[in-house]
Amino acid sequence: IISVPEPDTARKREILQETLSSKATDLDISVDLSQLDCESVAEDASALDAYRLQKVVDRAFMIAQTEATTEVSQSHMETAVEQVTEEQSEITADNERHRRQSGSDFETESPDVSFNDVGGLEDVINRIQSVVSIQEEYADIYEQTGFETSHGMLLAGPPGTGKTLLAKAVANELDRTFLSVKGAEMRNPWFGRTEQIIRELFEKADDEAPSVLFFDEFDALAGKRSKSSRSVNQSIVATLLTELDGMESQDDVLVIAATNRKDAIDEALLRPGRLDETITVPVPDEDGQAQIFDIHTDGLPTADDVTGEWFTQQVTDLTGAQIRQVCEETFRKAVQREENPEQLTLNTTDFSSVIESLNHTSSIDMQERPIGYE
Ligand code: ATP
Repeated sequence: IISVPEPDTARKREILQETLSSKATDLDISVDLSQLDCESVAEDASALDAYRLQKVVDRAFMIAQTEATTEVSQSHMETAVEQVTEEQSEITADNERHRRQSGSDFETESPDVSFNDVGGLEDVINRIQSVVSIQEEYADIYEQTGFETSHGMLLAGPPGTGKTLLAKAVANELDRTFLSVKGAEMRNPWFGRTEQIIRELFEKADDEAPSVLFFDEFDALAGKRSKSSRSVNQSIVATLLTELDGMESQDDVLVIAATNRKDAIDEALLRPGRLDETITVPVPDEDGQAQIFDIHTDGLPTADDVTGEWFTQQVTDLTGAQIRQVCEETFRKAVQREENPEQLTLNTTDFSSVIESLNHTSSIDMQERPIGYE
């Protein structure tokens, strides 16, 4: 992780000076940096980022131009900072107003991953397929009986085991639009706003039907309601229940929720007719890890002895996300090392050294099972 901090006053002064000089060479207006106190301008520009500092310089040149002067002065710079800062705060306030009025924009996606891209989860895929086929093929028969088909499922398992990947693959395999939200991001501090966002989300999923509506980190949104007090969860869970129950005529929306903590989810959401199928997505076994390794090395120029079987002898209990990380990191390092891309070959030593280094830096804990799941 390389952190890129906001520029401090000294760096802001430099940005102003650099931008002033380069702009002066492009235009007929001159700049005498020895006459400009860029330090104090930088101090006045405390609320502005590097991009806005460049706008300040543009604005100062514009003001000089409209005044028909031939040089950018201190007062041009000061006026420019004032104007850009004011515009910036108006934009922020506007954005906030807009966010509160129109809610979040729910991005839709057409994922291109399929079940073939998911390794080591055949049983899970079979169970998902059986839930979906009941919803898709037997909806009419169910309607006659008065029973309800399931509106969705809960994928429960440790982080990085492929829950999101599976949900995307379901959408792709069924040729449905994919809408995805994260539980924690849906929570809005404004009173009643989260509930409204949930309603809008289900509406959008219905508009986009046939669709898959995916809730990641579902426990962060649908936590257990406390019995003793009227918690915020009460009304959020009540809204989710209403939306799920109201989906009877919307068999074209499949809800998939994912969690690392099934125990934290309000049980009412998991009752029949709601998210009544809980499917556990486990850390892959040895065969599964080999399959996932093969999937992620499929397009890579690997040596003949780099195989899934070899890989599983080097590691213990890795999730799909961790295996992918090993492959990506090995490829990245090899690309940096090899000058001629045509000669690029990833051999066992490349993979071993990444496994080793990640082990040491604890970027991946190779020994322990992923935490956060009981
Ligand atoms: P979280 O609980 O943290 O949201 P998750 O279970 O949703 O994690 P994903 O986001 O689906 O995990 O996994 C991250 C990436 O790891 C995937 O995009 C994929 O590249 C890889 N991956 C994870 N599991 C598998 C798998 N079973 N087969 C192939 N690739 C996998």
